Amino acid sequence: GMKLDVEVLRYLSKDDFRVLTAVEMGMRNHEIVPAELVDRIARLKHGGTYKVMKNLLKHKLLHHDSSKYDGFRLTYLGYDYLAIKTLVNRGVFTAIGRQIGVGKESDIFEVATEDGTILAMKLHRLGRISFRAVKTKRDYLMHRSSYNWLYLSRLAALKEYAFMKALEEHGFPVPSAVDCNRHCVIMSLVQGYPLVQVRELQNHDTVFETIIGLIVRMAEHGLIHCDFNEFNIMIDDNEKLTMIDFPQMVSVSHRNAQMYFDRDVECIFKFFRKRFNMSFQENTDECDESDSDMNENGRPCFSSIAKSAGSLDKELAASGFTRKDQDEIEKFTECGGEKDSDSDDTENLDGACFPDDCGANISDSESLQPVDLQELSGVFGDKEDDMEGNQHSC
Ligand code: ADP
Ligand code: MG
Repeated sequence: GMKLDVEVLRYLSKDDFRVLTAVEMGMRNHEIVPAELVDRIARLKHGGTYKVMKNLLKHKLLHHDSSKYDGFRLTYLGYDYLAIKTLVNRGVFTAIGRQIGVGKESDIFEVATEDGTILAMKLHRLGRISFRAVKTKRDYLMHRSSYNWLYLSRLAALKEYAFMKALEEHGFPVPSAVDCNRHCVIMSLVQGYPLVQVRELQNHDTVFETIIGLIVRMAEHGLIHCDFNEFNIMIDDNEKLTMIDFPQMVSVSHRNAQMYFDRDVECIFKFFRKRFNMSFQENTDECDESDSDMNENGRPCFSSIAKSAGSLDKELAASGFTRKDQDEIEKFTECGGEKDSDSDDTENLDGACFPDDCGANISDSESLQPVDLQELSGVFGDKEDDMEGNQHSC
């Protein structure tokens, strides 16, 4: 796992963060930010920017890259500290504890609030995926524009936060969404374990039916989880369930919705058959037009549910996650992810861009505006919330 320490925030000075933020701004339209641009944005006196950059390099918050031209980029660690500082300044938490989860594209830590409450912090890490998995995406990247992994990770966090909040408001068993900034989501800590770790259940029938019921009820609200499996369902000692992990969710109006819905359902059937020896019929029957809720093999029928499905779109927009954001992120997070990819060829890219594919041209994305130096003057005041000026409010 990786080390994160709130104490580091103490020995990183105001100037350190100013320069770190300047690099972040530069990365809106530069894969690698030339030192002179960092200096022009940060505007520290007497060449201070260069001294500070040395310090940031030493702490691995910046990466020096001279492969194409000379410049700097944020590392994920640097991005982590920007988000953490912002959230600490907001009073969301005051300390970071142990790492409690390592996903394919996330790291999860415990954090503590001032009154001692423990929360969960999820740091999204898009781009930290196997090269095999990224291959199909590369085709897209080569033919379209270049994308910035920091930007995509931020979008994933915003999406997760928005969906979690909307699901919570509709009474679904999900972690309580507390706050988010950049690529970081703060939520309540779920008691219990991922279902995949559970060998025995008191009431496997009840748990099974509850889970299928959740898939159906989400679809009735217009949503498909898309990665609904034993890794993303938490269960406690009383066999109470909590769903987690929402960056890949899609609407029931998505062109592949039927397939994603059926896949989520089949995942659960398969797991309960294998792990708890429950017997089910093979799913040989299609759902027909007869509007029944279930087919002859006991599978819920997507078509009849989708007909009268509600929509959570409004609630999502209220959290700052737009339709356009959804379209953007769907290009990169294949619904359901690459469940079978393993870690042997996983590389931590530890930076913003996928090496070959991120050029300086990201101008066709509205969310990544070129840095306008005129507009920037005044961004760095003396206020505590300096750090938030250039981000989604989330
Ligand atoms: P990924 O997208 O990388 O799969 P997840 O959201 O599924 O990330 O989280 C990975 C693991 O971290 C989970 O399997 C779970 O063990 C743990 N985890 C995630 N969120 C929480 C939470 N709110 N409370 C407790 N543990 C969590
Ligand atoms: Mg997961």
